[in-house]
Amino acid sequence: MQTREPVWTILKVLQWTTSYFKSLRIEGPRMAAEILLAHALGLSRIDLYLRYDQPLSAEELAEYKALIKRRAKREPVAYIVGSKEFWSMELAVTTDVLIPRPETECLVEQAIERMPGVGQDIVWNVLELGTGSGAIILALAAERPQNRYFASDRSEKALRIAGKNAEKHGLADSVRFFVGDWFAPLKPEASFFNLIVSNPPYVAAGEISGLEPEVRDYEPRFALDGGSDGLASLSLLIGRASAFLKSGGYLILEMGYDQAAGVESAAKNEKAFESVEIVKDYAGLDRLAIMKKRGTAVG
Ligand code: GLN
Repeated sequence: MQTREPVWTILKVLQWTTSYFKSLRIEGPRMAAEILLAHALGLSRIDLYLRYDQPLSAEELAEYKALIKRRAKREPVAYIVGSKEFWSMELAVTTDVLIPRPETECLVEQAIERMPGVGQDIVWNVLELGTGSGAIILALAAERPQNRYFASDRSEKALRIAGKNAEKHGLADSVRFFVGDWFAPLKPEASFFNLIVSNPPYVAAGEISGLEPEVRDYEPRFALDGGSDGLASLSLLIGRASAFLKSGGYLILEMGYDQAAGVESAAKNEKAFESVEIVKDYAGLDRLAIMKKRGTAVG
């Protein structure tokens, strides 16, 4: 008599993977299983719910298993499937860029609050430094299409991803991307920008080895490493931004939950700023510093 192979239906596969991921203490085990299975089958997650009883073919099962193995080695789901949702936009990501984080949406919100509304006849010049996947600048460009947007990264590979994301969301004509290290490609005498935003590397170098393996082993180190105290890039941006800002212009920076004091003192040393405000993220942690250049806003 022949023993029958168990039938691996979509539901069974999801249940098995969820408990496997749980045993490995992987966060969001069911969600990860669903995203990976949907990716392997070329379906959406909703499609999975409608086909719980559908059996997987041997090829489908093999393809899915390969994805599970990668996640078990702690590769982030976003890198495995090559995309991540941010501000309701599906963005391409590779290991050349940081995976956009939900807390970075706070930066987008704060920037939008300060920008002129759609329909107002005012056009802002907006700059993002270290754009990575383009998440921040594309969210802003989508929300306030009347403005002029500029975004840079020192990684050409990152800029290719950002450019692809701009195309994908019909924003290729809205944002000018350029390569370079922070302010290096720009002329300070221009004082051109109404708003400069950045989510720079801000993790203290010595703390990187203690991060989750997903971050430590897969995300680009140059997007995380903020020098010995984590403040190297933040201080550089605070020290130099005012020369590029118009009077009354804003600098909005993402920072670490424990960096408010360091960032505030750097901002207060810069006489060009009239104020610095610390804003918390959804988890109640200090996450943003918002600096305003002295003077009245001019357009
Ligand atoms: N928030 C990131 C983390 O989870 C750090 C991002 C950054 O350095 N800009 O570690």
